[in-house]
Amino acid sequence: MAEERQLETLIIGAGTTGLLVAQGLKKAGLPFRIFEYESPSTYQTRPREWGMTLHWGSEHVSKVLPPELVARMSETYADPTVSPDAVTGLPIFNGKTGEQIVEMKAEKPVRVSRKKLRNLFSEGVAVEYGKEVVDIQEAEVEEGGVKREKVRVVFKDGTDAVGDLVVGCDGARSRARECIVGKEKAELTDVPLSMFNFTSRFTAEQALELRKLNPLFINAIHPDHGTMFWISIQDAPDPSDPSTWLFQLLLSWTHNPLPASQNTQEGRMAFFKKRASEYAEPWRSAGEWVKEDCRIPMDPGTYWGKAERWDNRGGRMTIAGDAAHPMTPHRGQGLNNALQDAVHFSSAVALAASGTKTLKEAIDDYDKEVLERGMLEMQISLKQTMFIHNWETLMASPMVKLGMRQAKKEEAEAELNGGQEE
Ligand SMILES: Cc1cc2nc3c(=O)[nH]c(=O)nc-3n(C[C@H](O)[C@H](O)[C@H](O)COP(=O)(O)OP(=O)(O)OC[C@H]3O[C@@H](n4cnc5c(N)ncnc54)[C@H](O)[C@@H]3O)c2cc1C
Repeated sequence: MAEERQLETLIIGAGTTGLLVAQGLKKAGLPFRIFEYESPSTYQTRPREWGMTLHWGSEHVSKVLPPELVARMSETYADPTVSPDAVTGLPIFNGKTGEQIVEMKAEKPVRVSRKKLRNLFSEGVAVEYGKEVVDIQEAEVEEGGVKREKVRVVFKDGTDAVGDLVVGCDGARSRARECIVGKEKAELTDVPLSMFNFTSRFTAEQALELRKLNPLFINAIHPDHGTMFWISIQDAPDPSDPSTWLFQLLLSWTHNPLPASQNTQEGRMAFFKKRASEYAEPWRSAGEWVKEDCRIPMDPGTYWGKAERWDNRGGRMTIAGDAAHPMTPHRGQGLNNALQDAVHFSSAVALAASGTKTLKEAIDDYDKEVLERGMLEMQISLKQTMFIHNWETLMASPMVKLGMRQAKKEEAEAELNGGQEE
């Protein structure tokens, strides 16, 4: 039996993952501190927010979030009036003809707002804002005459904090991952993917038209050029007034990136309008209705191709969420896996604190499971991304067999052995 200890966890990043880790530790009565790079105001006014499909990950939320917050989960929905039973999955259409090709089945899917989810999960959690972590170091500290192995996080403002272990929940471009595995091994791998992911409001009439086929989301793939055009509800401040609804639009394609000369706001808008005009309704009209002054950013696709077992320094340093498995978004798995990580991590710390396992044993087990699950899902999501943007491979993409559900190890391996596009 290992020693029973009050282990203090330092959480880097108050995104969904970090906040759910905090809730899990709080529920277990374990001490923690949580540090967020943004200031309290920029945390609420980020220029980039998006919606996410929460499906199989919901069961993990209810394991650690207090019941009074679980009861308020609908506050995080893009449209709180659409219940988890309202739809059975994401319909995928032929972008040229408008015919439905397949439904990507999902377990009680809801569209949640990243921002609203953070706001609910942060209730009762004392986030320390404006604290950008720049380094993580092993530290030895004397406590009551006993030397203890600890960990120190160093902030950009010159201050630091010491705890028993650290978990990096600092997103896809994780500084924590860099500190743990080194800059080169932490590097993201580029995917030949281009994405316009942006938001727009429409007139009440237009907004109603865009939700006619499905109240949450519709997705189309164009057979001629393999672009994907996604439309989903992102926020409904007044569900009874469609003119207040905010939509998320995502146009993505593989290979053929926009030449630098066209990668300007005007160039991206012209490309978006041209592609949208080639789609069936309602995508074609959505493209027309987007106002010329709507800002369209360009995002690349990435994942952690160099992922391998990291040295957790005796269980004192690890990662969770996008920091551990950044992936392409076309299977809607990043958030759902992040929620599972958060629950597994807080359970691992509880096992170490109770003396059931040593810290090293508990975090070794956590790391092993997260890495294996994360690596499989990064690969399946990558296959989904590459296959759906090509009409020839579309029906062989993971969504057809798996829908949006979490792949079991054997079926994930079988899916991956089914061939990867060059
Ligand atoms: C277009 C798009 C659509 C998606 N759709 C879905 C979907 O439908 N379903 C799904 O499951 N997933 C989806 N995802 C993935 C999902 O958004 C992510 O998996 C999830 O948001 C990850 O949360 P996180 O807390 O790990 O990271 P983040 O949300 O990135 O949070 C990281 C936090 O750490 C902070 N931080 C960063 N660096 C530091 C530092 N050095 N010091 C201190 N703090 C720091 C950041 O400010 C931030 O608050 C989508 C992603 C994209 C891009």
